[in-house]
Amino acid sequence: MSTAPAPDGSAIVAAKRRTEPSVSELVIHNARVMTCDPSRHGVGLIDHGAIALSGTVIRWVGHDADRPRGDRELDAGGRLITPGLIDCHTHAIFAGERATSLGPTRAASDAELIAGLRGRLDTALAAGTTTIEVKTGYDLTVEGELRLLRCIATASDTRTQRVVPTLLAHLVPPERVAVRDAFVDELCERLIPLVGEARLATSVDVYCDEGAFTLAEARAIFAAARRAGLALRGHTGQFRDLGAAELIGELRGLSADHLEQISDAGIAALAAAGTVAVMLPGACVQLRLPVPPVDLLRRAGVAMAIASDLTHFGMTVDEAWLGVTRHAARALGLSGGGTISRGTRADVILWDCDDPAHIPYRYGAATRLIDAVFVAGERLSATLSPLAS
Ligand code: FE
Repeated sequence: MSTAPAPDGSAIVAAKRRTEPSVSELVIHNARVMTCDPSRHGVGLIDHGAIALSGTVIRWVGHDADRPRGDRELDAGGRLITPGLIDCHTHAIFAGERATSLGPTRAASDAELIAGLRGRLDTALAAGTTTIEVKTGYDLTVEGELRLLRCIATASDTRTQRVVPTLLAHLVPPERVAVRDAFVDELCERLIPLVGEARLATSVDVYCDEGAFTLAEARAIFAAARRAGLALRGHTGQFRDLGAAELIGELRGLSADHLEQISDAGIAALAAAGTVAVMLPGACVQLRLPVPPVDLLRRAGVAMAIASDLTHFGMTVDEAWLGVTRHAARALGLSGGGTISRGTRADVILWDCDDPAHIPYRYGAATRLIDAVFVAGERLSATLSPLAS
């Protein structure tokens, strides 16, 4: 895989596009098309719409009456088509139980880690997640974190599902607590440059919170990420507001995630920088944390993404949809991602309903409403292998 440096996170992923020439074109018509295209209003719904998939990309989108002819046609029967879902914040590579994964992850073989991740990727794809981010962070040694990134690359290498790897500066490991400055130096001077050189991740995420990294440490780690040509993201204010949102805004990071605790100045910094606020309702519910200030973020004009569940979480249906499509793509630096528009990857879902509002209400059961998932133009069967066409 040879790519140019990818400070915005898009080049590495783009390199994984299939290269064989497109031979057939599929037109799906008689559909309600939710484009999530920013040039259209709200979620960009087109009633009586159609789309044309050509090879791995969307070639055309518009009104049914104007649709081009395709080699194959599919009548959607008035049902809804949306972009494929994007989960922009996961910790999907580990062994054992996630909450106590350091020991088991260090002890696991590459094959075990890869098999575990592949299983989780398949589960996500079956639920319509055509792009998924995966963070490291359960080894916390230089060699171990590099190994996790290589396992992510191997697990995703043969797949059409987009996998976006992130290096997570998660915690200071227990055996290094007494020498934490040396550990931070090692991250900045060895691990991050190696990750940048080998293009093993597109961004560095720093967990800046009580019990994790301090604001000064986060600033040093972000500076190293910048030098390595990697984009910046942050676990921010999950338990205590240390000012990390202000820092990420100042440095024009891609996203600030969690935000249960955030000041007005932090919100203003994210708005000014165009940094995406990533909401994690699943973590809030599990840990009984307060809900992030969705109203204030909305009023400040901060784009919000949602990782994990499609729950409302004080957000409107349109915001929830943009949160798992266009805004999630932005949090990963995937320009044009999460939309149905000309030239974007043909990652789309055909739903067994016609109303976008039906889907977020099916807490955990939305998968049953999925009729078909197309990933890079390939229609997946129930067992997730491409269907013969
Ligand atoms: Fe997290």
